[in-house]
Amino acid sequence: MIKPFTPQLVYFEPQALDYPLGKELKEKFEKMGIEIRYTTSHNQVRNLPGENDFQKYRIAKSTLVVGIRKTLKFDTSKPSAEYAIPFATGCMGHCHYCYLQTTMGSKPYIRTYVNVDEILAAADQYMEERAPEMTRFEAACTSDIVGIDHLTHTLKRAIEHFGESEYGKLRFVTKFHHVDHLLDARHNGKTRFRFSINADYVIKNFEPGTSPLAKRIEAAGKVARAGYPLGFIVAPIYLHEGWQEGYYHMFERLDAELPIEARKDITFEFIQHRFTKPAKKVIEKNYPMTKLELNEAARRYKWGKYGIGKYIYQKDEEEDIKEHLYSYMEKFFPNAKLEYFT
Ligand code: SF4
Repeated sequence: MIKPFTPQLVYFEPQALDYPLGKELKEKFEKMGIEIRYTTSHNQVRNLPGENDFQKYRIAKSTLVVGIRKTLKFDTSKPSAEYAIPFATGCMGHCHYCYLQTTMGSKPYIRTYVNVDEILAAADQYMEERAPEMTRFEAACTSDIVGIDHLTHTLKRAIEHFGESEYGKLRFVTKFHHVDHLLDARHNGKTRFRFSINADYVIKNFEPGTSPLAKRIEAAGKVARAGYPLGFIVAPIYLHEGWQEGYYHMFERLDAELPIEARKDITFEFIQHRFTKPAKKVIEKNYPMTKLELNEAARRYKWGKYGIGKYIYQKDEEEDIKEHLYSYMEKFFPNAKLEYFT
């Protein structure tokens, strides 16, 4: 069983200590005996330990930087939400295909922001601008927010904030099962709690440092019983020996766990495995022993933004995936809504 994340090293921006959460975290980490250092900016942590890139990357992934979010202009997050709400950046997981490897480049350490009230106030403004239209906020665009929330409880605050809002909704996705502190949050049905799930083979081989499938499914059951609208992202859908059985079994286990009342409002998102040339380079550098299949010649090229295309499965493979996964979804969750396949 994977334990909740404990950083090996923590950096503070000195101004973070002017905020109650900053103070609270400092006391917490001191009591835990974790080494604390200071940095002028969460964007420039320069003296991380490690003798080579490989070591530095691993140490950074277990380093937490506590700072202040200065940019309160939110990025858009289409199509699943209007805006990305920035509570944290980075993740302690080691998924070989994680998109953060390319987007965060030389800063793989985890950042959490303590000016939560300011971030929520900015969200309120975005909601006001669009009212009476609903505004959806995605909290997992740049991190796996659930993975660090047992330390900060920022997500819990956000869930309750949106729970009280008239025109706001929150959503996020996680590969972690440490959800207990979120079960009694007053969500008022305004937060969609999504889990990223996959066939056992994929989780075991490519998602080190995250929760096993059984634990994620068990956590989904708890979340459903706490009354949250639920969602599942099956990603990346990866072809491997026995993939049909692997994904069938995943749905079967989900079916066994989820209570009847959770099935009225459940969403699925399906994303097939893809990679870009720059991503392949980073993956091979950070996880040189990976078994992940990254053979351009076996894939179909899809043109992308900024001239960086991605390699996806061949058309017939894609159809095969769709046929199987759609049929499993319909068999076990006939009332679920498929948001998209990509
Ligand atoms: Fe990346 Fe999500 Fe894995 Fe974290 S859990 S390493 S954010 S894919």
